[in-house]
Amino acid sequence: MSLKNSYLSDLYERVVKRNPAEPEFHQAVYEVLESLEPVIEKHPEFVEKGVMERLVEPERIIKFRVPWIDDNGKVQVNRGFRVQFNSAIGPYKGGLRLHPSVYEGIIKFLGFEQVFKNSLTGLPIGGGKGGSDFDPKGKSDNEVMRFCQSFMTELYKYIGKDEDVPAGDIGVGGREIGYMYGQYKRITGLYEGVLTGKGLTYGGSLARKEATGYGLCYFADEMLKDNGKSFKGKTVVISGSGNVAIYATEKATALGAKVVALSDSNGYIYDKDGVDLDAVKQIKEVERKRIKEYLSYRPNAEYHEGCSGIWTIKCDIALPCATQNELDLDSAKALVKNGVIAVAEGANMPSTPDAVAYFQSNGVLFAPAKASNAGGVATSALEMTQNSERLSWTFEEVDEKLHDIMVNIYHNAASAAKEYGMEGNLVAGANIAGFLKVADAMLAQGNV
Ligand code: NDP
Repeated sequence: MSLKNSYLSDLYERVVKRNPAEPEFHQAVYEVLESLEPVIEKHPEFVEKGVMERLVEPERIIKFRVPWIDDNGKVQVNRGFRVQFNSAIGPYKGGLRLHPSVYEGIIKFLGFEQVFKNSLTGLPIGGGKGGSDFDPKGKSDNEVMRFCQSFMTELYKYIGKDEDVPAGDIGVGGREIGYMYGQYKRITGLYEGVLTGKGLTYGGSLARKEATGYGLCYFADEMLKDNGKSFKGKTVVISGSGNVAIYATEKATALGAKVVALSDSNGYIYDKDGVDLDAVKQIKEVERKRIKEYLSYRPNAEYHEGCSGIWTIKCDIALPCATQNELDLDSAKALVKNGVIAVAEGANMPSTPDAVAYFQSNGVLFAPAKASNAGGVATSALEMTQNSERLSWTFEEVDEKLHDIMVNIYHNAASAAKEYGMEGNLVAGANIAGFLKVADAMLAQGNV
């Protein structure tokens, strides 16, 4: 890979050298730098003032030991991370991921993306991300609680309502946020909005749980409308069956589409009549079981082992909502062959770069994660506002704000792409629109 602009190309090489063996981080940086080529030509001051060098270097990386005791009384040790990437436009904000694949490179890639995403929301939040290689799967409630308490016993030193406000991500939902919040409060004695995605009885926001999935569909709907299309009557395939996938299914269905497939890391289900979301919620949110269990609710549905086969199902709209790099070039080819008209990313960086290029060169409407999944963090910022006011807004109020934010993000990304000569390229548009606000704030604040 090489960038046309020699300054950006050198910068990218330096990033690779300084952050060895972190391919996800390299991939995320490359995509942004590629989009910014026309921007730095128009704005040489960003180069002169070192904005680009500062942008690719996290402000702070915190790495710590997380010891906890399992149900057999044995000490287990995991590694915890918090990457505070950029605070130019507000306190660090971004989720915590608990998954065995977590290492520094994953958290850096997510933190880097978060900077631009948070900027796109139009709200005053900087970018950060954190997590651990702890695997919540198969752990008892008590083990998850002990892990979360130990994790927070170290993390609390670095976060605060005006400093850094973590939220959920893969493996972190309401249960984990509750345990972490309880421990933060116990240590600090503070009842403050230090985490978002909290339960409704202790400062959470209505519609936060639904926000990423709903926001994804609001974004995709606006993109479809702008191109004379809609969700109505369309067949949709969604990967994953976690928080984002479930609420994307709910909203896509409400907008008139039929969702026919969902997955987890073991395999996928195909239900040609449209998935029974109540069954999925019962399996995933209540029982915490595998998606395979769906067959006990709908015996006529199909279950297939393995994840990537889901993209061979014929559909009009694909919403990858599981994890990074889950949709590769072969999957993109299968989708295009089957007539897909739009792909909108719910997960972070789920499509590989060659898959994105294939969609774009085959006329598929493509919504990049930074823009299309920003609804979760946007609603987290609304939760922060409600916590500061000590008030709670209604579901409708939050949902309406979320809708307006997603529509604005779409139009800002589309206009930025057009202004820089790349009309229709929302990847470039989102990167540019997100970057400009952060870069201006960094310039204004001096060389910090
Ligand atoms: P959940 O933990 O609720 O669900 C994740 C889903 O993806 C599960 O079905 C999981 O299956 C599957 N999955 C996870 N890792 C893999 C893997 N390596 N291969 C295949 N499938 C996998 O997480 P969320 O729904 O919250 O997050 C999903 C994506 O959305 C992530 O990329 C996250 O960063 C992104 N996102 C989430 C936001 C939020 O508000 N929650 C906000 C913005 C982005 P299994 O159970 O088998 O592991």
